[in-house]
Amino acid sequence: MSELAARAAALDEQDALAGLRGWFDIPDGTIYLEANSLGPPQQHIAERLADVVRQQWGQRLIRSWDEGWWSAPERVGDRIGRLIGAPPGSIVVGESTSVWSFNAAVGAARANPGRTELLVDAGSFPTGRYLATSAARLTGCTLRLLPAEELAGAVSSQTAAVLVDHSDFRTARLRDVDAVVRAAHGAGAWVIADLSHTAGAVPVDVTAWDVDVAVGATYKYLSGGPGSPAFCYLRPDRLGVFDPPLTGWNGHHEPFAMADDYRPADGVGRLRVGTPAILSLLGLDAALDIWDDVTVAQARAKSLSLTGLFADAVDQLTGDRVEVLTPRGKDRGGHVALSCPEATAVLQRLTELGIYADGRPPNLMRFGFGPLWTSHRDALHVATTLAAVLSSS
Ligand SMILES: *Cc1c(COP(=O)(O)O)cnc(C)c1O
Repeated sequence: MSELAARAAALDEQDALAGLRGWFDIPDGTIYLEANSLGPPQQHIAERLADVVRQQWGQRLIRSWDEGWWSAPERVGDRIGRLIGAPPGSIVVGESTSVWSFNAAVGAARANPGRTELLVDAGSFPTGRYLATSAARLTGCTLRLLPAEELAGAVSSQTAAVLVDHSDFRTARLRDVDAVVRAAHGAGAWVIADLSHTAGAVPVDVTAWDVDVAVGATYKYLSGGPGSPAFCYLRPDRLGVFDPPLTGWNGHHEPFAMADDYRPADGVGRLRVGTPAILSLLGLDAALDIWDDVTVAQARAKSLSLTGLFADAVDQLTGDRVEVLTPRGKDRGGHVALSCPEATAVLQRLTELGIYADGRPPNLMRFGFGPLWTSHRDALHVATTLAAVLSSS
């Protein structure tokens, strides 16, 4: 057995999370490395949703709104809060990350009147940039795009808010959100962090960071299902000053009074916009059950072990045909990004061989390791197959 194979076998042997693979429904012969795009389903979600449709919707009909549906955005929010260090009553689940990013950028700018700029991580996932551009136009701010590592140094008394992705969606380099928050708060500005690539993959403590707003997707490492609703955290003491543009009836103090004027709910429920997508939301609720059995710290330890083994194996087996773009230290998130000129053809061949990873043009390949369903043998098999594909191309 090669040294790499022995290492993979030993790591699998000691893996306390190996049993969780059985929760997931992944076709035989498939190695699924798309945790950073769409996590796979768990077996019990279909049953749970069948119950929601047949019992809750079918039998209880409209009464179900009072029997758990209406309060689900905050209840499920509290479950996510336990994974990111947020206190109960500080998160709402609904809408999409895009909607929350926009709401947060405008709301933060309005909470800081007289300030003239929004600072945005230039390498952020495009939707954040697109929406911040529109938010800046609406609030009369200018948008300054800067490399993430320059954000903290660029904050000034003119900055209303800083928008930063916790993990770079291309390279998986983690950003020092803590340093950005300290610099921003020192200058009186807010920080909006996007946790789409880290919720469920990397320990996050929004309370320790003291970040003002945090948003994120739930269909990636949290496996909530395609298009499952996003979360929005608001630092509890910001409730009274945050002034979001989306003041839908769900966030009203008394939504069913159908009052003429908008008056926000007292708590975090004021972030709510429209009627929650109950089927998706309760699918996500079911997907979160697995986190009663595992901590984010455990998932992270295994993730580092998987991505470390994979990156080492790629180095050893592919020589200089590919470049590992992801940092090798603890400042990496949940996926490994590789660059090579043949990326598109290689990814297509890997898919034919039952290995799912994705690309970002022109040369990037991303391998998103889900620590709850991936083994070290899988990780090594992917590196070996990648090397074989490259050497035959
Ligand atoms: C995946 C991702 C999103 C997705 O936004 P949607 O509104 O769900 O399409 C947003 N931001 C980041 C950083 C992401 O990685």
